[in-house]
Amino acid sequence: MTIRSIEKLDQVKIHFKKAVFQHRLLHWYQSNKRSLPWREDWLKQKNPYHIWLSEIMLQQTVIKAVIPVYHRFLETLPSLKDLADANEQQVRELVRGLGYYRRFSFLHKAAKQLTEVKPLEWPKTAKEWQKLPGVGPYTAAAVASIAFNDPAAVLDGNVERVLCRLLDIHLPPNLPQLKKPLQLIVDELIDERHPGDFNQGIMELGQRVCTPTQPQCSSCPVSNCCAAFANNTQANAPQPKIKTKKIDVTMNLLIVKDSDHTLLFQRPISAKFLKESWGFVTATSNTQQFSGDGFTLTDSLLSKAEKIGAFKHNITNHKISASVWLLGRKHIMESKLAPHKAKKVRDQYVEKSLIANLDRKAWHIYSRNAHRLGI
Ligand code: SF4
Repeated sequence: MTIRSIEKLDQVKIHFKKAVFQHRLLHWYQSNKRSLPWREDWLKQKNPYHIWLSEIMLQQTVIKAVIPVYHRFLETLPSLKDLADANEQQVRELVRGLGYYRRFSFLHKAAKQLTEVKPLEWPKTAKEWQKLPGVGPYTAAAVASIAFNDPAAVLDGNVERVLCRLLDIHLPPNLPQLKKPLQLIVDELIDERHPGDFNQGIMELGQRVCTPTQPQCSSCPVSNCCAAFANNTQANAPQPKIKTKKIDVTMNLLIVKDSDHTLLFQRPISAKFLKESWGFVTATSNTQQFSGDGFTLTDSLLSKAEKIGAFKHNITNHKISASVWLLGRKHIMESKLAPHKAKKVRDQYVEKSLIANLDRKAWHIYSRNAHRLGI
């Protein structure tokens, strides 16, 4: 039955033999799965740390970007204990470039929490994993199923699309009302004997076969279970995603110089963007008033600064138009602008100290113009 409205969602049900679907999916996965470093590590060492780390890195990030960072991270912090003993700045430096840095602060906090209990007791079920900082339902199900055989089914964007096609649901996959029925379906479908392979198999099917456009139905292992394939409605199931509206943000970034040193400030936990990261003084505005955390960037202060460039940058659903300003240290001390933790960094080490792409873009503007700037 084709589902075209929210009202019909309570009629969604599996119309094929569950055992056939599981068998075909698992067989396909076993013969076609990609060789990925965390999969290889798991096979060799059976260490849940590897699975957990990879799942955190893969949030909102493509596999290609994650692989080199995953290797770099484990070379420096090969065990959970090493991660717990590291300082937060070191952790952030290791994941430079991946974005969404809060997830790694949570990972770090959770590692500390886990290693406080001796001997180490890993959470075993998705429910237990969700009690750790920064672990949501998806990550909990993925780690618990792969590392501990917990039959917890994952529901990510790929799985949502596959299910919409199997059941011929013509609704946007990110429709909030769709989450629960799809979770119930995949909970029912999961192979309880091989939950980790089932979860990885259905996600990989969505990534490589049942792709958003032009799904490869002729080579799909579960085409005989697929209602959209039978009805030739793959293009309608699911419907295009509901787009989240982008929010325009105007931002000033202030680079504070002290001869051949630069002052970096740690953004407070209450900062709107890039909480707790080290960077430049940041003030945002959707009106004419630019305010940061605990200060207001006044016209009088900006009149002492020199505008050295501008750039565009996106953070989640925010479209940021940033202006970069250069200011001598004496002005910032005079105005008591800096309520944040600050550190003075020699210019040649600034690039290495910056983790967020937003700050790095601002620093590149400064570096390109440094030869002509008087401060
Ligand atoms: S048959 Fe086609 S549409 Fe159906 S699950 Fe397979 S790839 Fe997706």
